Amino acid sequence: MLTRMTEQFGVTADGVWSAPGRINLIGEHTDYNDGLALPIALPRRTVAAVRRRPDGLLRMASTGVPGEPVTVLLDEVRPGTPGGWAAYVAGVFWALDRAGYAVSGADVVVSSDVPLGAGMSSSAALECAVGAAISDLEGLDLLADDTGRAHLAQLCRRAENDIAGAPTGGMDQSAAMLCRPGHALLLDCRDGATRLVPFDLAAHGLELLVIDTKARHALVDGQYAARRADCTAAARALEVTSLREVSETDLAGALERLADPVARRRVRHVVTEIARVPRFVAAFETGDMAEAGRLMVASHASLRDDFEVSCPELELAVEGALREGALGARMTGGGFGGCAIALVPSDRAAAIADTVTAAFARADFVAPQAFRALASGSARRDT
Ligand code: ADP
Ligand code: MG
Repeated sequence: MLTRMTEQFGVTADGVWSAPGRINLIGEHTDYNDGLALPIALPRRTVAAVRRRPDGLLRMASTGVPGEPVTVLLDEVRPGTPGGWAAYVAGVFWALDRAGYAVSGADVVVSSDVPLGAGMSSSAALECAVGAAISDLEGLDLLADDTGRAHLAQLCRRAENDIAGAPTGGMDQSAAMLCRPGHALLLDCRDGATRLVPFDLAAHGLELLVIDTKARHALVDGQYAARRADCTAAARALEVTSLREVSETDLAGALERLADPVARRRVRHVVTEIARVPRFVAAFETGDMAEAGRLMVASHASLRDDFEVSCPELELAVEGALREGALGARMTGGGFGGCAIALVPSDRAAAIADTVTAAFARADFVAPQAFRALASGSARRDT
C-alpha cells in the first residue's frame, strides 16, 4: 500500500489503516428500527494508505475502481459531490468537519478484499478505514476507547447517509469500529449499547459458512429505501417512535390496528426478528446450537415471507445448506442477492459448499463462493 501511494500520487503515505467487512448473524433490517443486531467482523478488510495534506484538498484512488483519481476540495463536499465511490471517503472528512473537528485534506489510496456490494459491508469498511486514518493523523484520538470508536462509527454512518445518499442504519459502521476477534457484537441500536458475545464455534465442532451467491439484483437501493419507508409509516400508524417499542406480547394487538396487509407483514418481521436476537445469544451462551440453528431458519423465513427481501439464489443457498446437514441457514445483509450464512458441522462444510455449488450450476446461476467466517478485529492502524 505504501508503494501504491507513491505510484499514484508521487508522495509517501503517513501510514496505513484498515477496517473489516462484516457478517450479521441475526437481527436483519432491525438497525433502522432501533432494534438489535449481532454482527461479527470478517478477516476481509479495506486498507487505506493516507497522507495528510494541509491545503484542504482531497485526492482519492481505489484499486477496486478503474480510472483517474477523484479530486475535490473539502469545502466543496456536499450531497452528490463528489459522486460515486469517492463520496464514501470524502463524506467521512465532511462528517468530522461538521462535528467540529479540525480536519485538513489528504491523499488517500484504497485497496480491499471485501467484495463491493456483496452484503459484507464494503462501504462501512471503507468509511471506517478512512475515519481511523483521519482520527490518528489529526490527533483526534477517537480509536483509543469504545466511546470514541462509537462516536466515529456514527460519523461514518452520517457520511454514508448524507453524502453517499444511502439511508442505511448504523450496524455496519458499529461492527467495523467495535468488533473484537473471537466475539460477536450484540448491538442495541436504540441507545448504542454494545456487549461482546464469545463466538467460539470450534468448541462445538461447528463453523460459520458464508455463501456469497454473487447475485447482485438491481433495484436493491430502491427496495431498501422502500422497506425503511414501510417501517417508518407503520410506526407512525401505531403511534410509536420506532417499531422497537412494539414488544412481542403487543404484536397481535399492533397487527390488528394495521389495515394494510403489507404493513402487517413488515411489522411482524421486525418485531419477531428483534425478539430472536437475545434468544440466539442465549442459545450460544448455553451451548444450545440446535436452537441457534432453528432461530436462523425462522429469521430467514421471516425475511422471505414477511419482509420479502430474499431472491432465488438466496433460497437455493439456504435450502441446499439445510438439506446437506446445516443446523441453520439464513440470508444475511439487506437481501436481493449478496450472502447467505450457514451454521455447519466442520466435517460437513466442504460437502455443503459443494452441494450448493452444484445446485447453482443446475439452476444456471453464476457460481457462488463459499468461505469460512472467523470473527475478527475492528478498525486499526496497520503501519
Ligand atoms: P456493501 O457495503 O454491502 O458492500 P454498498 O452498496 O453499501 O454495498 O457499498 C458498495 C459501494 O461502496 C461501492 O459501490 C463503492 O461505491 C463503495 N466502495 C466500497 N469499497 C470500496 C473500495 N474498496 N473502493 C472503492 N469504492 C468502494
Ligand atoms: Mg454497505
